[in-house]
Amino acid sequence: MALIVQKFGGTSVGNVERIQNVAKKVAQFVDEGHQVVVVLSAMSGETNRLTMMAKEMQTRPCKREMDVLLTTGEQVTIALLSMALQQKGYPAISYTGWQIPLTTDSSHSKARIEKIDGDKMLDQLGQGKVVVVAGFQGINIKGDITTLGRGGSDTTAVALAAALNADECQIYTDVDGVYTTDPRVVPEAKRLDMVTYDEMLELASLGAKVLQIRSVEFASKYKVPLRVLSSLKEGGGTLITTEDNFKDTEMEQPLISGIAFSRDEAKLMILGVPDKPGVAYQILGPISDANLEIDMIIQNQGIEGTTDFTFTMSRADAEMALEILQSTANHLGAREVTMDDTIVKISMVGVGMKSHAGIASTMFKTLADNEINIQMIGTTEIKISVVVEEGHLDLAVQSLHTAFELDK
Ligand code: ADP
Ligand code: ASP
Ligand code: MG
Repeated sequence: MALIVQKFGGTSVGNVERIQNVAKKVAQFVDEGHQVVVVLSAMSGETNRLTMMAKEMQTRPCKREMDVLLTTGEQVTIALLSMALQQKGYPAISYTGWQIPLTTDSSHSKARIEKIDGDKMLDQLGQGKVVVVAGFQGINIKGDITTLGRGGSDTTAVALAAALNADECQIYTDVDGVYTTDPRVVPEAKRLDMVTYDEMLELASLGAKVLQIRSVEFASKYKVPLRVLSSLKEGGGTLITTEDNFKDTEMEQPLISGIAFSRDEAKLMILGVPDKPGVAYQILGPISDANLEIDMIIQNQGIEGTTDFTFTMSRADAEMALEILQSTANHLGAREVTMDDTIVKISMVGVGMKSHAGIASTMFKTLADNEINIQMIGTTEIKISVVVEEGHLDLAVQSLHTAFELDK
């Protein structure tokens, strides 16, 4: 007997038939003698639908109220799945995040999990029930409802698996594993049998939305065996594991394991700022004080005492950052401030890259051959990222996928 946490994403619970299909899948595991905790997302499209309604009410919807609103989606699916299981003769009970309770900090819309009380779940499992938990939500110390950010149900699942010391955490979604790149953009993409936590962390943080980045951080920290599978198609999926497990198998570590991309990117520039100590801090300090996250940063070589500063961030935060930047520009006497939210970021990831030169030049040559202009470049030991105009995204990813023979 094993304790398994299974998470089903939006498409997998998208309508009544799909929820009944989930009940069938869960029932199979119960029949095999396992204890099962299920974590669910809202029906696909529901979180977006609720967000649009909020925007009709308020220009910048109040974050506390947003969390009250968005968590309703998951409350619907957990109740429906419990009913479906009960109807099939499998005792089940649903819990919202605050009933568990799953305690988080207070940053509404991107809260971090602080504590999970496993007692109630273990008690119900002990009574032979399937425990069905609403993903993506928690409660802060004041008793306010919080959410964990888009895609946060993945994180709920892994965090519950860690708290309950589960034998495996299975993420069921609409693809049958982690691929060399998004199979919707490159149909020739190949499914990976295994990926290391480090690579998955990079892929997720660079835009591969198959897993929320926090979920991979949790899995890596608490060594939770994590598997991505299809809810509709049978198969072993992709195991996310340590580099050591890789070495134990016959598999050779590939040079490049995948290509990730993010459409949610905006570029901000402040031109003609004084080239002297403290300026970077004066520009970026107020932005981070507003709790806005910055990604890539470039400061140009100074000419005649002034310099230019460019950085990227999430599109959703860019307008607010632009306002802040404009007031900084006035204060510093900068020449101009601009914002471009028609850019995307494409990244190549691979642990094997550490010991190989020439990856970057092949990448740049491939983009040049396709007449794709690179606006920014960033690198780490196991990744290279470029910023390009959004219209070039598909061509860039497809040509890089072919150039690095990821389809072979
Ligand atoms: P869910 O609703 O189940 O959480 P998501 O839409 O969040 O599902 O994540 C699954 C999607 O992630 C896939 O449909 C696919 O388009 C996308 N995706 C992006 N990169 C990858 C990748 N490298 N491998 C597999 N899927 C990917
Ligand atoms: N329903 C939330 C979202 O759409 C959380 C999730 O599905 O993981 O982002
Ligand atoms: Mg998701």
